Amino acid sequence: MHLLLVEDDLPLGNVLLRLLKPHYRVDWVRSLTQAKAHLQATEYSLLLLDLGLPDGDGIDYLTRLRKDKNTLPVLIVSARDALDERVKGLDTGADDYLVKPFEPEELLARIRVLLRRAAGQASPILTCGELSFDPSQETFHLNNQVLSLPRKEYELLSVLIHTAGKPVSRDRLIQQLYSLGNEAESNTLDVYIHALRRLLGKERIETLRGKGFRLVNL
Ligand code: CA
Repeated sequence: MHLLLVEDDLPLGNVLLRLLKPHYRVDWVRSLTQAKAHLQATEYSLLLLDLGLPDGDGIDYLTRLRKDKNTLPVLIVSARDALDERVKGLDTGADDYLVKPFEPEELLARIRVLLRRAAGQASPILTCGELSFDPSQETFHLNNQVLSLPRKEYELLSVLIHTAGKPVSRDRLIQQLYSLGNEAESNTLDVYIHALRRLLGKERIETLRGKGFRLVNL
């Protein structure tokens, strides 16, 4: 899953990046201008939004996003801890609001909630037939056996299980798997699809002509 982090504070940005990188693909930008450019170029799964930014306020940006019918999950991470600020953030269209400083485990847990809710799932374990995924443990099971997956295959399958039953375009998969600017490697997508099919069974990942791929419940 590919996250966009908007945070202008260098030390905090670095801490967040170190925290998130083992779990997600993360692009980090430090202004709203850069955030806009990134959101136009790539389809992210989640936006982590600071409010006080050098070229504007995150709240105004969020207002614009929601006005434009952008449904991207947004988690505000801000030092503004007053009740009216938090309520305003949520009422503006944020899906959640975390006050700095926060515990790393809580941020990670809230991200997992937003990702599974965006996938239309309430259960903490995502399932597709005999395949299941526990995001908090970062483990997949197939027929009750743990699947041991290399990093890229893990990332690909976690995107697919969050969209189980629905087609996902090649572009979206590539945008979820590669950081902006690294799409040159994207011709390797088929290699990872092939590797997953060998592990899961060929028929579990359908190729939809012109539409991409779909994880199916067998
Ligand atoms: Ca700031």
